[in-house]
Amino acid sequence: MGDKRESFDVTIIGGGAGGYTAAQEAISKGFKVALIEKERVGGTCLNRGCVPTQCLLRDLIEYSFFVSSECIEKELTGTRINLQKVMERKNHVVDLLVSGTENTLLSGGVAVFQGEGTFMDAQTVRVRPSETVIQSKFIIIATGARYRLKPPLEFDHQYIWDTTDALHMESVPENIAIVGGGHRAMTFADIFHYLGSQVHVLTEASKILPDQDREITSRYRRVLKEKKVQLLTNVRVTGVEIERKRDTVDLNIESKKGPVSLKVSKVLVPGDREANAQGLNLGKTGLSLKDGLIPVDSHLMTPVPHIYAIGDVIGGKYVAHKAMEEGIAVVGRLAGETPKIDYGLIPSCLYTNPEVASIGLTEEEARRGSQDIEVGYFPFPAGTRPSILGLTEGINKVGIIKVVFEKKYGEVLGVHIIGPQATELISLASMAMKNQLGLQEIKEVVYPHPSFAENFLDAINDALSR
Ligand SMILES: Cc1cc2nc3c(=O)[nH]c(=O)nc-3n(C[C@H](O)[C@H](O)[C@H](O)COP(=O)(O)OP(=O)(O)OC[C@H]3O[C@@H](n4cnc5c(N)ncnc54)[C@H](O)[C@@H]3O)c2cc1C
Repeated sequence: MGDKRESFDVTIIGGGAGGYTAAQEAISKGFKVALIEKERVGGTCLNRGCVPTQCLLRDLIEYSFFVSSECIEKELTGTRINLQKVMERKNHVVDLLVSGTENTLLSGGVAVFQGEGTFMDAQTVRVRPSETVIQSKFIIIATGARYRLKPPLEFDHQYIWDTTDALHMESVPENIAIVGGGHRAMTFADIFHYLGSQVHVLTEASKILPDQDREITSRYRRVLKEKKVQLLTNVRVTGVEIERKRDTVDLNIESKKGPVSLKVSKVLVPGDREANAQGLNLGKTGLSLKDGLIPVDSHLMTPVPHIYAIGDVIGGKYVAHKAMEEGIAVVGRLAGETPKIDYGLIPSCLYTNPEVASIGLTEEEARRGSQDIEVGYFPFPAGTRPSILGLTEGINKVGIIKVVFEKKYGEVLGVHIIGPQATELISLASMAMKNQLGLQEIKEVVYPHPSFAENFLDAINDALSR
């Protein structure tokens, strides 16, 4: 019996944030669309990234608010987090969102193929194991990224965890070393802190959250200190020894002050990322990886003209909304439009307590580019809504909205927020910056009182007064 053959205008390999967004966009523009996914649609973000991590964080942070509230007289004794229930809720939310995404794709008319997409030639993809052969005018590679570890660290998924292992833990480790200082590392540091583990963060960099504004980072550092998370910067893990009898891992660490050793129950490595391209059989297309990623030009086209790539597989910021934006841009291009992504306006968000969000230039970057830079501030503890919600004490004291602007024309160059609702508030800044609204125009909007949005206005007013 011969292979089943089908042909499409646009075929997308990978059904994650970038892939499913591109598929929906392509359908809306009248293309005949195939989407090939080897696991579950939704990709990393829905199945093992943004959604499950934030489900865990939400339950743990809510619990800590409850436990620390002086207004609730706790007559119950022995209150504790029920890890199994927390995991069940997380899995339920993931399942709901995955099936919702799948239904939207199917009802929209996307032909979803379950299996691994592998190139037969530059215009043909075979889906395994169904062995369907798909011919396509355009192909979009959206296969995401996978972890890459530096020796001596190696995942064994029992003692040395990746983030997916952590999302499926059955018990809470007494202490854990998290190797890395970026967004994922901070997210899991918060998860384990709220679960009651002693957390050690080890990073080779000189600061945590290296792409953030320096002032925000140093405030976040204060939060870690208050939570008694041990932070070791400028360090490198040089040796790993698993002691199964004692159920521990011994880490040898090189630091500026000399060698250090650390005994922990688990090690979590959020890890660097490289293109998920093993199964693609790229050789058949004439494409090859560059620095572990699929190379694309400014139109997201690979060196093979009708093959495009989007999302984590091409590198850049490893965030779902970048992958989605690229999916929309590529399809626009296929439809004859001239979309342009402003990578400087892709927000960064951290969903811990407190939240952190930023867009545009940091103060340091802005000052490097111009002499005429000023900064407007609003401290959250002075805000009405934060006061009403009891978000002015303890770690909330670090909360600020920081607006970096160019003095002459009042152009906003960057907004950096640490504090409540930071990840929601940042969209006000995105909207203003995308539409090139100056400080005065942002001020002319009416913001509800009391609200966090009004605190964004307070920061803008402070900027205008400088
Ligand atoms: C723990 C964690 C937390 C995160 N939190 C956030 C967050 O809060 N906010 C945020 O914006 N981003 C977050 N991210 C990053 C975000 O998940 C990714 O940037 C995003 O999922 C990238 O989308 P993508 O479409 O490029 O790839 P993916 O979502 O990884 O999708 C790629 C898909 O391709 C499939 N695939 C691979 N090869 C093949 C093949 N040959 N054939 C068929 N299918 C294939 C895979 O199964 C996968 O489903 C997080 C990531 C992690 C790991």
